[in-house]
Amino acid sequence: MRTVYVNGAYLPENEASISIFDRGFLMADGVYEVTSVLDGKLIDFDGHAVRLARSLDELEMRNPVSKDDLLEIHRELVRLNGIEEGLIYLQITRGSDGDRDFAFPDPETTEPTVVLFTQNKPSMADSPAAKRGAKVISIDDIRWGRRDIKTVQLLYPSMGKMIAKKAGCDDAWMVEDGFVTEGTSNNAYIVKGNRIITRHLGNEILHGITRAAVLRMAREAQMEVEERSFTIEEAQQADEAFTTSASAFVMPVVEIDGVTLGEGLPGKVAMRLREIYLDEMRKTAV
Ligand code: PMP
Repeated sequence: MRTVYVNGAYLPENEASISIFDRGFLMADGVYEVTSVLDGKLIDFDGHAVRLARSLDELEMRNPVSKDDLLEIHRELVRLNGIEEGLIYLQITRGSDGDRDFAFPDPETTEPTVVLFTQNKPSMADSPAAKRGAKVISIDDIRWGRRDIKTVQLLYPSMGKMIAKKAGCDDAWMVEDGFVTEGTSNNAYIVKGNRIITRHLGNEILHGITRAAVLRMAREAQMEVEERSFTIEEAQQADEAFTTSASAFVMPVVEIDGVTLGEGLPGKVAMRLREIYLDEMRKTAV
């Protein structure tokens, strides 16, 4: 049984609880982060801590845990659960003042809810899916307009994943005004020659922590990086495509809306970036 963290306490998962009035439960009034663990260490912890602070700030939510304490909690959960490879899920909600009301409760008297738990994933780095490559389909992006805030409103991305599965695919890329925004739980890229193209930052996409690291490493490896929108048609004509996320790292994409890219195998650039990313991140893990 897992040991989880709830509001200051480390508990067996079946003894952990939060209020039924919690605004995370009633209104999806909460934010989250997912940090991966490799060799028992945290990958890009700083990036996740900085984005968490920003998400809370944008929602005028108090940050109840200092960065040092947050690191300590992450490490303690890794230790208590013996995680060598896997994920740490963190969620902070606006908490509960014991009733339901659209207006935010008084932040002076209402404590945010803090929950963390681990997910053991032994073959995350040596992933069979990455060797095969993912098939994606496109769906309309009908999410709200502040996708740069990492909120727990994941119903539509979850539906997108199910639409993809029903179509025999692995994931969906969302399209707005004719251009790809991002994957259901990852940022989307295409490759043309030595050039990597991914959507520019803005309110329309989540500012991926893996995206920032991978683009930095691509530039260091003398690849060209172009941050701009692209269409599904352009992606289907590209040499390669891939996605990035903290849980799947760099994931090659081999098919988009039924059109096979190249030979239908993971692309060279994507595989090289996956290798560089994993190497570098293992070195700087905490
Ligand atoms: N976009 C969306 C919509 C996501 O849910 C995620 C993963 N949480 C990402 C992009 C990738 O972000 P990161 O690299 O920080 O995991």
